[in-house]
Amino acid sequence: MATVTLDNLRKEFDNGRIVAVDDVSFEVEDGEFVTVVGPSGCGKSTTLRMIAGLESPTGGSIRIGGEDVTDVHARKRDVAMVFQNYALYPHKTVRQNMAFGLRMSTDLSKAERNRRVEETAEMMDIEDLLDDKPNELSGGQKQRVALGRAIVREPDVFLFDEPLSNLDAKLRTTMRTEIQRIQNELGITSIYVTHDQEEAMTMGDRLAILKDGILQQVGKPKDVYEN
Ligand code: ADP
Ligand code: ADP
Repeated sequence: MATVTLDNLRKEFDNGRIVAVDDVSFEVEDGEFVTVVGPSGCGKSTTLRMIAGLESPTGGSIRIGGEDVTDVHARKRDVAMVFQNYALYPHKTVRQNMAFGLRMSTDLSKAERNRRVEETAEMMDIEDLLDDKPNELSGGQKQRVALGRAIVREPDVFLFDEPLSNLDAKLRTTMRTEIQRIQNELGITSIYVTHDQEEAMTMGDRLAILKDGILQQVGKPKDVYEN
C-alpha cells in the first residue's frame, strides 16, 4: 500500500496551447479510495495517465509511497490501471491475460502464478472463463477479467479510468458494488476517475472535483456537495 502525492502537477499539450492539468495538488492516503469527477475534457484521464507513468508531466511532481516517480522512466511503479475498453489481449486466454501482468512484474514461480490467478478468478467469479478468449465474453465479463488482471498483481495503487462507462445501467450498479467490495477487502489505495456524479458520490471515501484542469474541491462527498 502507498500514499499518492501530487504536487502542482501540470500537463500541457501543443506547446502550452492546451493546459490539460493545471497545477493540481492533492494527496490520496494509504488505503484510501478517492474518486475524481468532472466533465469530459477536464483532465481526469491525463492525471491518471501521469500517475501510471504513461504520460510525462510538464511540471510538478508525483510521489508514490514517498518515492518520486515524476519521471516516466523512474523506478517501475507498482500501479495497476483498469480501462474503460478493458485493454485485454485478444489473442490470449483469460488465464494468460491475468498471468501476463504477473510475469512482467514479479518473479514468482509458474505454479505460484497459477495459484494466484485461480484464487483471484474465484474472487471475481470468473473461474469458469479461464480458458476463454476475450471475444467469447460479454462486456461485464471482460471488465471482471480486467479487474482480475489488476488485482492479481497486488499492486500498491489501483487506477480506474471510467471502468464502467461501457456497461449498461444494471451491470454498472453490480460492478460498482464489486469494486467497492474488493477495495474494502484488499485496502489498496485507489483513484477512480468518472464523469458520473452519482458514481463519484457513492464510491469514494473522498471526492475530488476537476474543472478545466483545475482542482475545484476535495472532500467527503457530503461536504463537497453541500458547497
Ligand atoms: P478527461 O479524461 O477529463 O475527459 P483528458 O485528460 O482526456 O480529459 O483531456 C484533457 C484535455 O487535454 C482535453 O482538452 C484534451 O483534448 C486534451 N488532450 C488530452 N490528450 C491530448 C493529447 N495527446 N494531445 C493534445 N491534447 C490532448
Ligand atoms: P495510448 O497512448 O494509445 O492510449 P497506452 O500507452 O495507454 O496507449 O496503451 C497502449 C495500449 O495498451 C492501449 O490499448 C492500452 O489500453 C493498452 N494497455 C496499456 N497498459 C496496459 C496494461 N498494463 N495491460 C494491458 N494493456 C495495456
